[in-house]
Amino acid sequence: MNYQDVLKEIHDEIKPLLGKGQVADYIPALAKIDPMQFAMSITCNDGSTYNIGSVEEKFSIQSISKVFSFTIALSIYRKELWKRVGREPSGNPFNSLVQLEYEAGKPRNPFINAGALVISDTIISHHGSSDKAFKEIFSFIKDSSDNENIEVDMHVADSEMANSHRNRALSNLMKSFGNLDNEVDDVIQSYFKQCSISMNTKELSRAVLYLANSGTDPITNKGFLNPSQAKRINSVMLTCGHYDASGDFAYRVGLPGKSGVGGGIVAVVPGKMSIAVFSPALNEQGNSLVGTKALELFTTKTGLSIF
Ligand code: GLU
Repeated sequence: MNYQDVLKEIHDEIKPLLGKGQVADYIPALAKIDPMQFAMSITCNDGSTYNIGSVEEKFSIQSISKVFSFTIALSIYRKELWKRVGREPSGNPFNSLVQLEYEAGKPRNPFINAGALVISDTIISHHGSSDKAFKEIFSFIKDSSDNENIEVDMHVADSEMANSHRNRALSNLMKSFGNLDNEVDDVIQSYFKQCSISMNTKELSRAVLYLANSGTDPITNKGFLNPSQAKRINSVMLTCGHYDASGDFAYRVGLPGKSGVGGGIVAVVPGKMSIAVFSPALNEQGNSLVGTKALELFTTKTGLSIF
């Protein structure tokens, strides 16, 4: 199959949708992004790549970073991790406090904010400080994308910090239930920095390729996870990767995926390829509206869903 032709068809078909939806506006640094942008990149396990649109444009990876921090925490703590965080879809918005209260401070999964904050906490405990935990996540991403030139957008990180009330509330609530070992400030600092990493779709599709090859990068042969752990990350991406629209994404796209409010989505075709798409305007559940449509078109046209 000629994937470049498929990308071209997708690009033509999504054009009328560009600009529909709304860019994230919970921090000023994201509110001013041009909503008309679109990019899509494929990296195959054999190393071939296919790109269309503004694929050099770096954007804030936001919640996509949770895939990498979850990978690190799972490889450190293995089964123990599930004492602190669940693996069920939440059916609630990404930053919801309500469920956390009645479930006694144990977040539903590692991909909602509360879960990602617990994951940050475990990495801080393992590495000894918030700075070291962030460095571990940052160097993991450089490693998995085989690229030293990944950057953090400190403007976004500062903006997150200045608007951190809800994430602080989530952290404080978990601390009150005894499910946060480190100081709230340390946890949210490392968490916001990982959300503020900037990458383009080429880099992101490359960075998650290990998930398309049972935990080992098929190009460099670096091992990040064992096959069973890679299966677990992909499964949680399938069931929980799109907040309260995870069921809809699975229904429409049929691939493990993770979105971020910066407008990016990564998706994995196990055994074959990883895909990243970017278009900043979001649907009501906070997932890229055009990005979701582009991935739906991709699996429809290629038959490459996991089902
Ligand atoms: N930094 C965002 C927050 O914690 C991440 C949101 C997201 O991409 O889901 O509010």
